[in-house]
Amino acid sequence: MNDLIPINSLRFEELERKLTELGLPRYRAGQIFRWLTLGVTSFDEMTDIGKDLRAKLAEVFYIEKLEIITKQESRQDGTIKYLFGLRDGNSIESVLMQYKHGNSICISTQAGCKMGCVFCASFEKGRTRNLTAGEILLQVINAQKDSGRKISNIVLMGTGEPLDNYDNVMAFLDLVSHEKGLNIGMRHISLSTCGLVPRIYDLAEQKRQLTLSISLHAPNDELRSTLMPVNRRYDVHTLIKACRDYFDKTGRRISFEYAMIAGVNDTRECALQLCELLRGFHCHINLIPLNHVEGSPLKPSKKEDLQAFQSLLESRHFTVTVRRHLGSDIDASCGQLRRRMVREGLTDHANLDHN
Ligand code: SAH
Repeated sequence: MNDLIPINSLRFEELERKLTELGLPRYRAGQIFRWLTLGVTSFDEMTDIGKDLRAKLAEVFYIEKLEIITKQESRQDGTIKYLFGLRDGNSIESVLMQYKHGNSICISTQAGCKMGCVFCASFEKGRTRNLTAGEILLQVINAQKDSGRKISNIVLMGTGEPLDNYDNVMAFLDLVSHEKGLNIGMRHISLSTCGLVPRIYDLAEQKRQLTLSISLHAPNDELRSTLMPVNRRYDVHTLIKACRDYFDKTGRRISFEYAMIAGVNDTRECALQLCELLRGFHCHINLIPLNHVEGSPLKPSKKEDLQAFQSLLESRHFTVTVRRHLGSDIDASCGQLRRRMVREGLTDHANLDHN
């Protein structure tokens, strides 16, 4: 199996090239792509492709799989949270949400995360790996297939740092937006990063029309470095400079994510510093009531503090939204279902190499 090629991770043009190299008809790429988009798990399901060709394909390629380990559906708002198992025993989460404007899915880009943000449930010591482009895509395909809901929007805000898995995430974007695939346009996709500055410059060069979200969470280095270790590598001003460059190159408004943590980053002083930091920048600020992570001393801000923070930003003419909290009756926020499963030894993660 190791020498076989994961077919779901190949871009359409790569698949065409590979077929040509193998002396197989190139036009079959369209049929294969369509079947993979429907979420088939074997070549034998590709019924409009002859048996001989299917057998040949199986000698060279394999179809990547994501198995549903558990699924929780909110009775309040229809949110469905999936825990998917990967072929190597790892597991990842995806959350399907219903909005008035359509169905949106929050997907993972890595199994685990090594960024170590102190407020986040995704950081677990031990094995972390990049997902393949196919594994990222299959979260969308399988959730759509399982739920019967057509997915129109995607946010790369699940477990993992997308820009730490840059090449596979770029391949995923090409796959998901391909007209013969799910055909989901870049304007319906958001990518969230903790701020890997060199990769933000790389992404700007690609001039994709996706929405870039920056997990800012603090307006100064002292505070941000205590919350997010990545800030010790790329400080706040270096990050904002990269964001301004991104906006200049792509014309796309950046969204700054700011999780409101009681008594930590929700003061008037912080709000004023944030205004100063983003002054004159045509951007969007998204305030997220902190999801409390079990065992963490960090608590969500009081409602009135959040409102005061929001009002101050608005009085300085920033566009501010407060994230709605969906699925609060299930293991709602990113990383929590996986975390519980890992803790309770319900997935193969029980044999994580703790070091
Ligand atoms: N690594 C990427 C994407 C994954 S996190 C990033 O850092 O942006 C998706 C978003 O959820 C980020 O903005 C992250 O900071 C935020 N987040 C993580 N834990 C949270 C929590 N407990 N409460 C609220 N937001 C949280």
